[in-house]
Amino acid sequence: MKDIITIGGGLAGLVNAIRLAEAGLDVLLLEKKAYPFHRVCGEYISNEVVPFLESINAFPYELEPSSIREFTLTACSGASATMPLDLGGFGVSRYALDHFLCNRAQQAGAEIRQQTSVQSVSFKDDHFQVTLPQNETVKARLVIGAYGKRARLDKQLARPFIQQRSPYIGVKHHVRVDFPDDVIALHNFPGGYCGISRVEDGRYNVCYLGSRAQLRKYGSIEAMEEKVLHQNPFLRNLWRDAEFLFDQPEVINEISFAPKQPVVNHILMSGDTAGLITPLCGNGMAMAIHSAKILSDLIIQHYHPSQFNRSALEDQYASAWKKQFAARLWVGRNAQRLFGAKLSSEIGVQLVKRWHSAARSIMQYTHGEPF
Ligand SMILES: Cc1cc2nc3c(=O)[nH]c(=O)nc-3n(C[C@H](O)[C@H](O)[C@H](O)COP(=O)(O)OP(=O)(O)OC[C@H]3O[C@@H](n4cnc5c(N)ncnc54)[C@H](O)[C@@H]3O)c2cc1C
Repeated sequence: MKDIITIGGGLAGLVNAIRLAEAGLDVLLLEKKAYPFHRVCGEYISNEVVPFLESINAFPYELEPSSIREFTLTACSGASATMPLDLGGFGVSRYALDHFLCNRAQQAGAEIRQQTSVQSVSFKDDHFQVTLPQNETVKARLVIGAYGKRARLDKQLARPFIQQRSPYIGVKHHVRVDFPDDVIALHNFPGGYCGISRVEDGRYNVCYLGSRAQLRKYGSIEAMEEKVLHQNPFLRNLWRDAEFLFDQPEVINEISFAPKQPVVNHILMSGDTAGLITPLCGNGMAMAIHSAKILSDLIIQHYHPSQFNRSALEDQYASAWKKQFAARLWVGRNAQRLFGAKLSSEIGVQLVKRWHSAARSIMQYTHGEPF
């Protein structure tokens, strides 16, 4: 019997694995893909995570992340405004970062099984049974759900958000282009918004949240980009001038920002599995890392195989998670209304241009303090 199984090896799963293995627990992390791999993400990480990553010796200095200090917003028309970022952030690809953290987790003593997709999880007699391909089963006292925004497991757990279809798609490219290395830009287009910022090796991440209906209408990603994204002159010029480095962009659909529960059927949910913030906040990765810190702190505090109070752990985690993240997620959902439409994107640009303090407040509400 394992102490802990972590389902999913993104940021939340890997950070939980590093901390819990380092605390001496027997940790198995199951990841359905093989590192390194690309995933849809803007790859801008808020600096609020820096002290914590340094404290667990997991800040990726060796990957030479970019340092990002300024924010530019453009409306669908191309009107633009720029402001400094109070806290700022850094840019590094998930391809490199997740691989780096996987190595770090193995070094901490976690067992990592890649290309292993969890099929189901059940809880009985105070322990979990996790089913893997070929009907292999593994038992554990605790299971952390860190399998991202949406997975088949959510259906099995009958989580309410899985019933609703989401109108969004996410698309990521890597490019080489002449663009400042310390700026993150967010460009509106009808139905969505597209971020650009630098990652390692002189590459830039170009990632957008678009609409499934528009993809259906235009029939392909390329046609949709040409007809919809290029209505914003900044995006038109970016596509004209950039060298695109992937054969095909990374694409995902069914991105739901609906509220979720942090504990379901005794599984402790971490990162996007507990709740996904809208990407315009540039804060989902910091939240995934922070939620893993909160959860692993509580597990380390509570977990004694002989006298373990499961319901105290679950209650404390649910309330700590809600206190830290529920308001941020709400502000993120509502701020998203200012994006992806002609008039409201103009209002957003005016907000950044004329009312720095109001724009700053929205940013502060969607971000946490450094931890
Ligand atoms: C378009 C878009 C842009 C974004 N841009 C940014 C940004 O610039 N900055 C930012 O901070 N955040 C951004 N985010 C949010 C950020 O990507 C997520 O919040 C972050 O990746 C969450 O990490 P996680 O560990 O919870 O999940 P993930 O990184 O999704 O990891 C989940 C892992 O679980 C694995 N998995 C799934 N099912 C199973 C299974 N059954 N068995 C085993 N493994 C499984 C997956 O393969 C995956 O590796 C963006 C999101 C979107 C959609």
